[in-house]
Amino acid sequence: HAKAAGSNCLRFYDAHLESRLREEQVLLRALKLAVQEERFHLVYQPQINARTGQLTGVEALLRWTTGDGESLPPGVFIPLAERAGLMVQLGSWVLRAACRQARQWQEEQRPTRVAVNVSAVQFMDSGFVGTVRDILRASGLRAELLELELTESFLMQDVPRVQSVLHQLKALGVSLSIDDFGTGYSSLSYLQSFPIDTLKIDRSFMPTQEVSQTVLNVIVGLGQALGLQLVAEGVETAEQRSTLLDLGCEVMQGYLYARPMTPEQLDWWWAERTVPS
Ligand code: C2E
Ligand code: MG
Ligand code: MG
Ligand code: MG
Repeated sequence: HAKAAGSNCLRFYDAHLESRLREEQVLLRALKLAVQEERFHLVYQPQINARTGQLTGVEALLRWTTGDGESLPPGVFIPLAERAGLMVQLGSWVLRAACRQARQWQEEQRPTRVAVNVSAVQFMDSGFVGTVRDILRASGLRAELLELELTESFLMQDVPRVQSVLHQLKALGVSLSIDDFGTGYSSLSYLQSFPIDTLKIDRSFMPTQEVSQTVLNVIVGLGQALGLQLVAEGVETAEQRSTLLDLGCEVMQGYLYARPMTPEQLDWWWAERTVPS
């Protein structure tokens, strides 16, 4: 009896796995098509200097609405795109779309720095620096209005190569930031030697009733000691804002200020904030 139940379980497990694999295949086919047909869009989340109220930049975040109108989070489809070898192409699309949008803001006399997330496979691709250069040129965007967000995990691998790519990117005039800072394993000596402008403090360090302020204090102190700009991610409460301000971390990105928005929504948001004098 037990054996029968066991084999039933096994069959159940197999069927489950099979259906998951089939689902992934379907998703993968849809994703491939979406990449070919560029069926994505970007939303932009403001970064605010909480002391002055100034908009210091926006982060571009990728969105994909599948054929049946479902919206999948990038945390789901980006790893899939990476595994399927689609991320270099998709990442170039993101860069192009973000630079085009930023160029439009530049034309409209409200130059806004746009931060673009770069995944490891893109950064490690030998054509990456050339792609960034070409896209910047084609868009006509001032290079200092583009920021590239990199993550610790891949910066610490193959450090000599990473150093060289970072310097080539800096030579283009773009700014560089480390995303989700504190969640990876940064070697502090490398961190000091990288030509990085900004640390984006991961939202898991924002103090709450459960999360004490201790690690946040250390990260802010580290950033300040290294002379880096700091951006706090995932700021949701007024308490977090005042804690950050007390520590001297002024630039914030989070739901307290705004969710990621389409360019049209951002226009409205802007207009509402610009108090006529
Ligand atoms: P990330 O780069 O750290 O982006 C910040 C994420 O936090 C975004 O999620 C944003 O919507 C969310 N967020 C912002 N403020 C708050 C807040 O106050 N509370 C909470 N709970 N969340 C907040 P999203 O858009 O789902 O993106 C998730 C991740 O997917 C990004 O994390 C980034 O790693 C990746 N990603 C998004 N777009 C791209 C892209 O174009 N290229 C690459 N390579 N990765 C991307
Ligand atoms: Mg980011
Ligand atoms: Mg982040
Ligand atoms: Mg993240």
